[in-house]
Amino acid sequence: MALTVRADLANLPDYIPGRKIPGAVVLSSNEVSTPAPAAVLAAIADAAADVNRYPQMANDDLLVRTSEYVGVPQDRLAIGCGSVSLCQQLIQAMCAEGHQVVFAWRSFEAYPIVTQIVGAEAVRVPLTEDYRHDLDGMLAAITDDTRVVFVANPNNPTGTGLRTAELERFLDAVPDHVLVVLDEAYREFVTDPDLPDGLELAAGRENLAVVRTFSKAYGLAGLRVGYAVAPPEVTAAVRKVAIPFAVNRLAQAAAVAAMDAAEELLSRCAPVTRERERVRGELVDMGYEVPESQANFVWLPLGERTAAFNDHLLAQKVVIRAFLGEGARVTIGLPEENDAFLAAARTFDR
Ligand code: PMP
Repeated sequence: MALTVRADLANLPDYIPGRKIPGAVVLSSNEVSTPAPAAVLAAIADAAADVNRYPQMANDDLLVRTSEYVGVPQDRLAIGCGSVSLCQQLIQAMCAEGHQVVFAWRSFEAYPIVTQIVGAEAVRVPLTEDYRHDLDGMLAAITDDTRVVFVANPNNPTGTGLRTAELERFLDAVPDHVLVVLDEAYREFVTDPDLPDGLELAAGRENLAVVRTFSKAYGLAGLRVGYAVAPPEVTAAVRKVAIPFAVNRLAQAAAVAAMDAAEELLSRCAPVTRERERVRGELVDMGYEVPESQANFVWLPLGERTAAFNDHLLAQKVVIRAFLGEGARVTIGLPEENDAFLAAARTFDR
């Protein structure tokens, strides 16, 4: 008998990482452009001395430190191999074939992938004309079979943010059988005081999980660590579906050291958000449409011109993330990197 690979996986979209071109300015993956602080690199080097040993299975030290740092009890926390892993584990914990997962579209490209992996149905609710979540549309899309709703705040790739009042209204209206996964991967770049802190929203709510990451503001994209704050029965299930020892020894040590260095790391966000406003302002002056962003990237809804824009930038060794037929997402880098992007954008013939 021949092997039988699951036929439904053939329609699964691939997760497309940013392109790596030697010598290029890389603004494609929403990373920070600054290397980790010396203390974090030293912690990684220390941990490297013991790589012949498995890491702590339950991330014990990291769990204790994250619990202190975030201010939630350990039983409400789950640590994972990047926040994308927690998105996947949350789906595995909540959904099986026949269930539905609702999310805005376009949003983070992993949502449909993790949904289809478990055989659940992805229900995409189009963004509004101003590139924001259509919360009423998402509520209307919920059925008895819906188990999870993803809400990215700010949204990737549009950078748009949901305000506290509208999100609270939404959470109040979501039926009890649905877990809302509030993905705050870019929370540290939020400057609008009207945007909520998901952890404050989570207090006292039993159907909300908040997902955060050390990949972005904390500068550890290459090590893959994230965490979820959720009701204890959910975190217990999320741990059960985890791959044993998934978060490696270097990653665990680095995340602890990053929390110890939080003041320095978080002080690096303000220059990024100032650059975000400068880049957006210059793009708008050039005549581009750019929605206001609360993240470390901006969105250019170029539609059919996206491919040409991407080619033009690549020719000038600027790598961004193109969503063909929709738009371009450009990470905010160092001022000189942003200047290289702006110079290329200026000479694009729209
Ligand atoms: N959520 C959102 C909205 C993202 O944009 C990303 C990264 N692109 C992630 C989660 C995953 O980040 P990580 O797995 O590195 O924590």
